Amino acid sequence: MKTVSSLLDDHWYERYKRISKLNIRSSIYDVTDRCNLRCKGCFFFSSGEHQAAAEEKDITRWHAFVESEMARGVNLAILIGGEPTLCLDRIEAFYRRLPTFCATNGQIKVPRERFPDLMVGISLWGDAEDEKILRGKDTFRISSANYAGDPNAYYLYTITPKQLGKTETIIRKIKDVGLKVHVQLLSNDEGVDGFSWRPEELAAVREEMDAMLDCYPETMISSKYYHRIITTGEMGGRKFGWMECPSVTSALDRRESRPRRLTNFIRWASDLKTMHRCCTSETRACSTCKDGAAHMSWVMVNKRAHMNSTVDLQNWVEVYEMFAKLYRFIPW
Ligand code: SF4
Ligand code: SF4
Repeated sequence: MKTVSSLLDDHWYERYKRISKLNIRSSIYDVTDRCNLRCKGCFFFSSGEHQAAAEEKDITRWHAFVESEMARGVNLAILIGGEPTLCLDRIEAFYRRLPTFCATNGQIKVPRERFPDLMVGISLWGDAEDEKILRGKDTFRISSANYAGDPNAYYLYTITPKQLGKTETIIRKIKDVGLKVHVQLLSNDEGVDGFSWRPEELAAVREEMDAMLDCYPETMISSKYYHRIITTGEMGGRKFGWMECPSVTSALDRRESRPRRLTNFIRWASDLKTMHRCCTSETRACSTCKDGAAHMSWVMVNKRAHMNSTVDLQNWVEVYEMFAKLYRFIPW
């Protein structure tokens, strides 16, 4: 079998060594069942996950819960919701103890005096016109005012088919407010007309994302291999889906084929007892899943599948580095 050192030159081997030490153990936490928006296509509300459990309101229980998660080996807390910034004391329970990432729609600013280096990922679903259709307002106007120039924030830009040909305008706007951007694709869980991907649109958006990465390498946190994976759903002849997904809650994972998966991963509901099926929608058909983090993790847990050639292994390193940058394990 080929070895890592036989496939990589010194430069790439150093990069490989840097990430191979990280040993990231993440889990995902619904901080609240509420949100100050109601986006069409939000996986949380469309799958009824907001009704799966009643929020735990006793903050002392959140503190004890985070301690027990650390004892379970978690070293990265990914906070989602609902909108986590509605519950700053719950964010603080994680932030005080663990590397913590907070996904937000950016309409409420995380107070930096209380959370100086909390990593914040701000959701954005397109230009003002599309955001008004899908999210009821132009969120960028407020989120960019809240976070312009913030070294610990970036945009998580969910590209929709309507954004084809328009992504450069968005990426330039993000660059102009001094922030970085990571891209993923809409899964359109609520079937909004015109927002589901057709094969030719997936091919076109891959080309467009590649071109944006060439033009804005300092602004985009991405990799061409990741673009290939999320647009084709294929990795080395294997098709992404339920039987391959690495982001299934470990305690609920009854798959007999035992695919490679994230170690001890759990997605917790906000009662701190209920578990959701996976990192995203409880009810989404896996064959339609475009979840960026699940695809990224799929690559990361399958290093062996990338040991056939130098290029394959370099692709794997780049995706791993991208993940590590997004969660601040290595610098941008
Ligand atoms: S901001 Fe996020 S959590 Fe809130 S409705 Fe939109 S997608 Fe859902
Ligand atoms: S919906 Fe996506 S993330 Fe969830 S189990 Fe299916 S493939 Fe995995």
